[in-house]
Amino acid sequence: ARAVRDELPRSCRLMLLVNPQSGKGQALALYNSHIQRMLNEAGIPHTLVITERQNHARELMREADLSQWDAFVILSGDGLLWEVINGLLERPDWEKAIRTPLGILPGGSGNALAASIHHYSGASPVSSEELLVSCGFLLCKRLVSHMDLVSIHLSSSPRLFSFLSLAWGFVADVDIESEKYRHVGAARFTVGTLVRLASLRVYKGRLAYLPATEDYRAKEDSPRENPFHNSCHSNNSLKPLPSDWVVVQEEDFVLMLAMYQSHLAEDLMAAPGATMDDGIIHLFYVRAGISRAALLKLFLAMEKGAHLAANCQHLVYKKVRALRLEPHSAKGIITVDGEVVEYGPLQAQVHRGLSRLITG
Ligand code: ADP
Ligand code: MG
Repeated sequence: ARAVRDELPRSCRLMLLVNPQSGKGQALALYNSHIQRMLNEAGIPHTLVITERQNHARELMREADLSQWDAFVILSGDGLLWEVINGLLERPDWEKAIRTPLGILPGGSGNALAASIHHYSGASPVSSEELLVSCGFLLCKRLVSHMDLVSIHLSSSPRLFSFLSLAWGFVADVDIESEKYRHVGAARFTVGTLVRLASLRVYKGRLAYLPATEDYRAKEDSPRENPFHNSCHSNNSLKPLPSDWVVVQEEDFVLMLAMYQSHLAEDLMAAPGATMDDGIIHLFYVRAGISRAALLKLFLAMEKGAHLAANCQHLVYKKVRALRLEPHSAKGIITVDGEVVEYGPLQAQVHRGLSRLITG
């Protein structure tokens, strides 16, 4: 592993963004009960910013004077970090802006990145407030590592960036349907999974990927390159696949899940082998034909990251650098880091260590 590490300056200037509506609506109370004191005791000056609406953090990041800040830290779910990262990448100086150290403290219902950071630190699994305290301590150590980002090109939206996951089928549907159970906190995904199992269905589409090989070089590493044709006559069609890509034979799926960090939720270790900057997209798909019982078993095993050892014939796992998904249906749900994006063909590719994250 390449341990690229820096330390934040002793007297760093930190912007702490809190989403008062995330999770059970407790993020501000969590700041008052735990984080404020921890940061003060560690001698980390910070400016508290309470977000007022969706996309507020994104706008703040687009306009921030980067010379005034050493780090942007969020206390919320993964959704607020998604806004921060995409706000930074929408700036004309995005290549510099995305080098600003970022941090995450779990205060939402979907705290996958915080759970991943805790896991990488080698500590045994914890949840809710214990996870917050653990991430608070890691933040106070002020150590910065590199984190992979994945650029995602959709047919008619601007390219966007992802730090966690890309999902289609069962997982994407659960992710979005379960938002209405946000008040139960992290258990929302368990509830959502059980509800969705009752109406299990097949998702049709074509999936292809570029396998991760040892001799891979960053030849197509530019986040600018658009895999869609630029010609105005064919604005919805993808360029032909290069010969080193693999096209999956099946076109009937129950789910496709691409992960770049270990955890999909606090208690779902979907990619146990993933590390922060391995430069790999951990691609999972489940072929149609799996029984409800077998699928449930997979999700239960995922709590401990044991699903790959479950010997499920329908589950496939590949390490890839890029992937292309072309759903056959006109409507459906695709999520990026748990957020809904435009439904349709897409291509994703990993950019190793593009961002920087405060970790332990
Ligand atoms: P959770 O894990 O509970 O979903 P998130 O951090 O993902 O928490 O936040 C959920 C959504 O809330 C995000 O889409 C974010 O843009 C939005 N948001 C941020 N600030 C506010 C606010 N003040 N009021 C309402 N929504 C907000
Ligand atoms: Mg969210």
